[in-house]
Amino acid sequence: MSGGRMKAAVLRGWNDLAVESIEIPEPEPGEVLLRVAACGLCGTDLKMVKGAFEGRGWPPSLPFVMGHEWSGEVAALGEGLGAIDLAVGDRVVAENHIGCGRCPMCRSGRYNLCERAGTPGYRLFGHTAPGALAEYAVRPATMLHKLPDSVNPREAALVNQGSLTVHALRRVAFTAGSTAAIFGPGLLGLLTAAVARASGAERLIMVGRGSRLELAGVMGCDEVVDYEREDPVAGIRRLIGSRGADYVFDCTGNPTVPAQALDSVRRGGKVALLGLTGGTPTSIDVDRLTLDEIDLLGIRSSPNAYPAMIALMRSGAVDLAPLITHVYPIDQVAAAFEALEDRSAIRPIVEF
Ligand SMILES: [Zn+2]
Ligand SMILES: [Zn+2]
Repeated sequence: MSGGRMKAAVLRGWNDLAVESIEIPEPEPGEVLLRVAACGLCGTDLKMVKGAFEGRGWPPSLPFVMGHEWSGEVAALGEGLGAIDLAVGDRVVAENHIGCGRCPMCRSGRYNLCERAGTPGYRLFGHTAPGALAEYAVRPATMLHKLPDSVNPREAALVNQGSLTVHALRRVAFTAGSTAAIFGPGLLGLLTAAVARASGAERLIMVGRGSRLELAGVMGCDEVVDYEREDPVAGIRRLIGSRGADYVFDCTGNPTVPAQALDSVRRGGKVALLGLTGGTPTSIDVDRLTLDEIDLLGIRSSPNAYPAMIALMRSGAVDLAPLITHVYPIDQVAAAFEALEDRSAIRPIVEF
């Protein structure tokens, strides 16, 4: 591969994304060169194009290659990998950061909370280090998970977000036979529904509006509440029962939703927050939280969750095919971003 060139979607300036021919990256010792098969675009990518995360250092400099929800296959192994269970041609997905491996959080398995995040040497691929909106990408072998033949490349690009919902269900200690309400029928909410259904949910309610609610039933929800027609808290209690849901998942990032989520959960229930409000403050009823012993949990990334998500897909317990509606070649990456911005696609996928 040395010296070869590849197509990549290169962010050259804010709102200036172009498909260019750039050098294929070289794997360092311990790293793997991967041929990218499919890469999804998400709201974070869209905000990065607009420069919304400039202050956060995403990207750290321009030009930059984004892309962090993807699948591919091993093209070449770097040096120093020894006897590793990876070979050229193996199909894989990649985590985007695995932490420093040495801080107390990393050593306790919570590497999504690495205490050295943001310090020199730390890499969050697709954000602070080159992403996968390109024909090739390089990753440390430790970040890769092998895919079974039965999981196709497009659906495998959803493993990243699916793993986040697996992590959310673990954080709330989700149990079979329970009820849940999910706010936000975007990709994260729909994946939460699919994984909760596969985990034995008794009753699932999706709260949202518009055409995306149509997919809620396909992905495992029993009922929907359109908040433009009915108060979401009243709707959830009407459908689940007046005591409220065992679990509520806020997949919106909308600062008005956490209070509604707290109003929808039963005494002793659990509320998980999977979205970011972009720093907008929100207010919650502390007395309700305290007197009803409600657990309010933040959910970040997907530590140790990729294998479980891949297993759910391999077994057929979750079927992500209905979520793959818009696929584009790299030359049409601009159209893919348009489909994201105008909300016509749940997850535009760029295929190589
Ligand atoms: Zn994303
Ligand atoms: Zn660490």
